[in-house]
Amino acid sequence: MDADNRLSFACACGTIAGAIHRATPDQGDHVVCHCKDCQALTVFLGVADCILDDAGGTALYQSRCARLEFERGSERLACVHLTDKPTLRWYAICCDTPMFNTYATGRIPYLTTVLANCDAAGCERLGPPLGHLFLEDVTGSTEGLKPLSMATLMRRFLVRMVKDYVSGDRRRTPLFDPKTLQPVAKPRRLTAEQRLALS
Ligand SMILES: [Zn+2]
Ligand SMILES: [Zn+2]
Repeated sequence: MDADNRLSFACACGTIAGAIHRATPDQGDHVVCHCKDCQALTVFLGVADCILDDAGGTALYQSRCARLEFERGSERLACVHLTDKPTLRWYAICCDTPMFNTYATGRIPYLTTVLANCDAAGCERLGPPLGHLFLEDVTGSTEGLKPLSMATLMRRFLVRMVKDYVSGDRRRTPLFDPKTLQPVAKPRRLTAEQRLALS
């Protein structure tokens, strides 16, 4: 058994690969997000069939930016704001794989990893999802899906964020400049028209 509890990930073509360290149920949250933006992202990248479940959900693991390490290919990452909300979507430009979601800057250091790209044993270790976000956007039946509110998820993250501020970990991530906390790739922003075309 891996003592570091690595959750390994790779983009579809294998150019980008790495791991989330200490990926366990008590160090982060396994959730399924059904929001329109997560769905639109897979349409934008043309990968809805590979990522979304039958109810339009994306399986995610929310932990901390400082837990992310790349083994290769991080220069092939791009990022996009689908809307004027601060969520930044990171994807692989080599093969259009959606990979991570973060806040717009490193000031709020959460990291959400798309589990479809991760190793089965690592996903297994996360246990069943804590719940389902944005059930109002589910495509199909919501039967058997346990609701989870963003407020609950953010409360759980706040505890980790305070630790990252105290330890200085929030500045130790490959996604944001340690001094300015700005993203290492220049974010693209879709126009309202481009966004509309995805829904
Ligand atoms: Zn790739
Ligand atoms: Zn979402």
